[in-house]
Amino acid sequence: MRYFPIFVDLKDRPVFIFGGGEPALNKARLLSKTGAHIRVFADHAEAELQRLADEGRIELHPAVDPHSVELIGAALVVSSAGDPADRVLSERARALGIPVNVVDRTELCSFITPAIIDRGTVLAAIGTEGAAPVLARRLRAKIESLLPARLGDLADLIGSRRERLAGIAPDVSARRAFWEEVVDGPIGAAALAGRMDEATVALDDKLSGRDPGAGQGVVYLVGAGPGDPELLTLKALRVLQDADIIFHDDLVTPEVLDLARRDAERVFVGKKAGTKCIAQRDINQELSAAARRGLRVVRLKGGDPFVFGRGGEEMEHLQAAGIEVFIVPGITAALGCAAAAELPLTYRKESARLTLMTAHRAADAEAIDWTGLVRNDTTLAIYMGRATSPLVARGLVEAGRDPHTPVLVITNGTRPDARTVTGTLEELPDLVKQAGEGPALLVLGQVVRRSRPWRDRFGAAISRITGHARQTESVT
Ligand code: SAH
Repeated sequence: MRYFPIFVDLKDRPVFIFGGGEPALNKARLLSKTGAHIRVFADHAEAELQRLADEGRIELHPAVDPHSVELIGAALVVSSAGDPADRVLSERARALGIPVNVVDRTELCSFITPAIIDRGTVLAAIGTEGAAPVLARRLRAKIESLLPARLGDLADLIGSRRERLAGIAPDVSARRAFWEEVVDGPIGAAALAGRMDEATVALDDKLSGRDPGAGQGVVYLVGAGPGDPELLTLKALRVLQDADIIFHDDLVTPEVLDLARRDAERVFVGKKAGTKCIAQRDINQELSAAARRGLRVVRLKGGDPFVFGRGGEEMEHLQAAGIEVFIVPGITAALGCAAAAELPLTYRKESARLTLMTAHRAADAEAIDWTGLVRNDTTLAIYMGRATSPLVARGLVEAGRDPHTPVLVITNGTRPDARTVTGTLEELPDLVKQAGEGPALLVLGQVVRRSRPWRDRFGAAISRITGHARQTESVT
């Protein structure tokens, strides 16, 4: 380590920036966040610098002679004015003991700027001593995706109560344990979820010795998406990496589970061929028991937890048990499969209405009032419709839907083994058989003609389709 990382307080301190191009602008913009008095010296300044000056965030001055400009009093000097000014300013600043940075010229710098992850009060800085800024930026992108957006709010909340705790608890290790509980438990989770009022009240209660949630964990109901791990949300990824225990079912792919914390306990609560599946009541019990043990629990569900996922039941059970629950949405099968098949679920005039529905059991399928679903401009995305597809086809046609309505069946959508089959409503039961094993989504409506599988099979028959026919294998 040759460069020592420090955080410099620049509030109300003068910072001089020489040069008026893009690099000067970037530095001015970043430095203006600190509350420093920024003076930019340039004859030709970027329009954006002028705008910052008009807003009063910086001062803009004409270029000055680098040999004679007064540097004393500057907290930092930054130059991107080009030679010979860069060299002169670097030498003079160093002679005066003022930290100096010459953009992209490490040899003239006494300090360099790291790649920064900015969460308000919480900052992370990554440096490579100037050797490989590209690497630093890559790392930054990785860390960005893991740090909660509201980390700064949590830090501010803790900061606002630090002194109060110090007054109550003189023992340093007791204080540390207190804050660890706050950060890891329901209070931290509430702050990071944007439930600031709730977090503040709970923290104040805890400071006054009232803490009904003491030692209690939290449960996240997390949508794992349809299978492709890249379709996880940043929040889902973060909570997976924080989890102590993960309850997952058969729709969650191994690729998604691989992204979870290595030493998190994994509990399968889905259906396995040939075995009886675990009852919802038992899952509910397991979730609440784990949270009571103080664990950070993730209940990971295929797609979205609130779309045919029984997330509602789990949430209500946990809330009734006094456990904090946070919902992290996921990409539901209809959206993931449609994207993979290049199928626009809504389309002007052709699809004005989209219905997500389940035809799980024959009893469900028979109970459906198909008459409301027969309009030509209504697109149906049918979940769990594999076994009941004959009933679905019959119900719709009898109610008046055109038997030639295009349909698409996707199994294992967004996964490497995805399969798609297209045809018409009257062929639905056959199509489902052809589509093979795995979770299957049925999409039905005029817009199916715009999908890639339809175009591949029938060509771009519809006049308004402009996309060129492509050579394709299966949709993944
Ligand atoms: N909560 C899930 C749905 C669970 S119900 C979600 O939001 O997606 C299970 C049904 O979802 C399956 O029977 C199937 O119809 C559909 N499904 C889930 N993942 C799928 C996938 N990758 N491909 C096709 N259908 C899928």
